[in-house]
Formats: sequence, structure tokens, C-alpha cells
Amino acid sequence: MFCFQCQETAKNVGCTVKGMCGKPEETADLQDLLIHVCKGIGLYGEKLKAAGTVDRQAAHFIAKALFTTITNVAWDDDVLVQRIKEGLTVRDAVKAKAGAMPGALPDCATWSATDKQAIIDKAKSDEVRITAAQNEDVRSLRELLIIGCKGIAAYADHAAILGYEKDEIHGFLMEALASTTKDLSVDQMVALVMKAGETSVTTMALLDEANTTTYGHPELSTVNIGVGKNPGILISGHDLKDMAELLAQTEGTGVDVYTHGEMLPANYYPAFKKYSHFIGNYGSSWWHQNEEFQSFNGPILLTTNCLVPLKKDNTYLDRLYTTGVVGYVGAPHICDRPAGGAKDFSALIAKAKSCPPPTQIETGAIGRGVCAQPGAGSGRQGHRCRQVGRHQALRGNGRLRWPSQIEILLHRSGRKAAQRHSDFNRRVRQVPLQQVGLGRHRGNSACARCRAV
Ligand code: SF4
Repeated sequence: MFCFQCQETAKNVGCTVKGMCGKPEETADLQDLLIHVCKGIGLYGEKLKAAGTVDRQAAHFIAKALFTTITNVAWDDDVLVQRIKEGLTVRDAVKAKAGAMPGALPDCATWSATDKQAIIDKAKSDEVRITAAQNEDVRSLRELLIIGCKGIAAYADHAAILGYEKDEIHGFLMEALASTTKDLSVDQMVALVMKAGETSVTTMALLDEANTTTYGHPELSTVNIGVGKNPGILISGHDLKDMAELLAQTEGTGVDVYTHGEMLPANYYPAFKKYSHFIGNYGSSWWHQNEEFQSFNGPILLTTNCLVPLKKDNTYLDRLYTTGVVGYVGAPHICDRPAGGAKDFSALIAKAKSCPPPTQIETGAIGRGVCAQPGAGSGRQGHRCRQVGRHQALRGNGRLRWPSQIEILLHRSGRKAAQRHSDFNRRVRQVPLQQVGLGRHRGNSACARCRAV
């Protein structure tokens, strides 16, 4: 195992035995294989794109697959195996449309399996690992690009769920994935990393348009942090469409809705604030889930990251529900919505009715929210927007309106990106090849298995 995609990573170098997030080696391996399969899709998708077509079915798969591999999303290996099988089918469909490619093809374009054990065996092989590339600069630049693509994919997936898509984003993901299978110069790889930055901004703007057009502009808001007397459902993650459908389906049922952690921003959207049974936010951040999910007493819905692994003596596995890209062994999964329809949250509502109301852990309210329209609005809200919006825009919290501020932010983020890249590059170099990848589990003193040999 070698994973260094998040700031939790062991010793700020890389998780090589088990993830600091709790991710087991087997799960990390399967995620590496899923990305390997996506690279194969990218190769054929890039060829198709050069011929003038972006395959949206393949693009949707890539976005969801990359999203699946980010921190604290996928905990169910069977689901990952299923997604790999699905990816091979998608790849072969794009291949059929794109036609044969000249020359020797990389493994990701040709490897195939239908059997679970064959997939697990392949996932254990070093050729799908981050460390397969021996040149440190190549490894660094390829992985910087892949991590950038994961972020783009998550935003693109959220936007697509709301019906907003851009072929330039889909096309870039295919081009970027395909590039990691080719022998490119450092300049070419750096150019792709820079393009990933540009595409990230384009994708964030698309998601902002999707969210604000669908649910209104977020407002500075007072968020209740106490509890009501009814049983409740706690929702976390970032999927606003799930939030909208849950609120609509719980209205009038006597079941209240609360946000947790990542879903806190839902409290600022006019389309959600209008519901009287949307009580507010319960608890704090994701790293307090084990305690706060326990005391919430009712069902919990995880729509995206971050799901923290449950403790063995937890009391909430039977009331934890996952949906979308999230999966957890033993937790019921709410299926995707049918075309033109809504997800069915009736199981959660029925479960909530059999549970006691949440245990109060805080009282009062907090002032939160972003002013998405500095200078807009009227009366008190408008005044606060005008007062606060200017500063928030500078901090990157509000929607950016003025070119001068955008330039300042780009300058700052560019400087930070350069620092991060430097750090990232150093981290790759700090992990000698004999410890991971090609020399898998040889001489790694941090690994119990190696010490036992
Ligand atoms: S995602 Fe998990 S395994 Fe990967 S670097 Fe972060 S903590 Fe480590």
C-alpha cells in the first residue's frame, strides 16, 4: 500500500501499512486498480475526443470512480470490485467506439477480468501502484495531476447531478488520465498540472452556477445548534440534491432534519431554510462522528465524504445509511435515483420514527454563512452583505466579482500551490522505492509484516 493523497498521511510522507484514516491495505489496492482502469478509459476517451466526441457515459463513470477514491468515502471492498468490473465494461464500450489504437498499449488499456479473485490479485500487483513509475519527478507530477483530477471529478460529479456539465471538463479528465500512461517531458507534465488548476476553477464555477441556480444564493444565517422534541435524521456529506429530496420527503412526517459537518452549508440556502422541520446543525466536525452519531439517536445519511470508520463498540451501524459514492460494510445503501425521479428515503424515515429524539449536546445558535452576492440584497441582509461581502471575497468565502480580487487570489493560491507541490515532491522522494511499490513490503521497519519476516 502507498497512499499520500491527504494531509492525514503517516509522518507527512505516506501511509504504507494502513491508512491513518483507517483505510485498509486491500481497500487502498482496489482504489489504485480503479484508477488504473480509469486511465484505460481515458486513453480511448482521448482518442474519441480527438475525433470530436466526448463520451459522456464514460465521463460520468470517471467522475464517480475518482470521487470514490478520495479520503473517507469507500469502505466496502465488494462495491469497489463491482465498480472495477463496471469500469472495464465502460472502457471496452469506449474502445469499440474509438477503434483500434496503433502501437503497444499500456496494461490499463488491455487488462481485463470478470472474476473477483482475479481483480483482487491484480490490485495487489505493483504495476497499478503510485510507485510504479521509478523516476521521482515523473511520479510526483503524475500523482499531482491525479490528485487534482480527483478534486475536479468530485466537483464535476456534484454539478452533473444537478444537470450541469461541460465537455471541456470531461475531456480534460480523459486527457489527464491518459497522459499518466505516456512518456512525456517534464514541461509537458507541468503544463498538464497547470491545466488541471485552470480546469478546477472552471469546474468550481460550474458547480457554483448549478447550486445557486437550483437552490438560491447562500445567505448569512443564524444556525440553531440545539435539538427539537421530534425524532430526527442527520445528514452529512456535500450532496445538496440529497438534502433537497430528504427535506421534501420528511415534510409533514413528524421527523426533523439536522445537518452534520460537511453539510453545514445547507443551512445557508434559501431553498432549504424554508422548511420548518429543518432544525439546524447537530454536533461539529467529521472527526467527532463516533461520539456525535452515537448521541444523535436517529438515522444518519452520508452522501459523500467524510465517513469516519465506526468503532467496534459503536451503537449506530444499524442506523447509518450511505448513498451515492459512499459505501460501508453493514450499512444499508440508498440506491441512485431513477431517471427523472428522486431517491427513496422512506427507509430512513421509518427508522427515524422508531428512534428517540437526539440527545442535546449544545444549545443556542451560531452565525454562519457566506455572502455570495456582495453588494446585493436590500435592508439588513443587504447591508450585512455589503459590509461582510468585501472581506469575504478577499478571503475566498464569497463569490468573486472583481478582477483585481481574482488576481490577488490567483496569485496567492499559485504561491501556495507551488509550496505544496514542493512539499509534495519532497514527500514522494522521502519514500525509498525498496519500501513501497516495486519493493513492496521489503525492509519497511514500520510494517508489522516486514518485521515478522
Ligand atoms: S487517504 Fe487515508 S491512506 Fe491515504 S494518505 Fe490519507 S490517511 Fe493515508
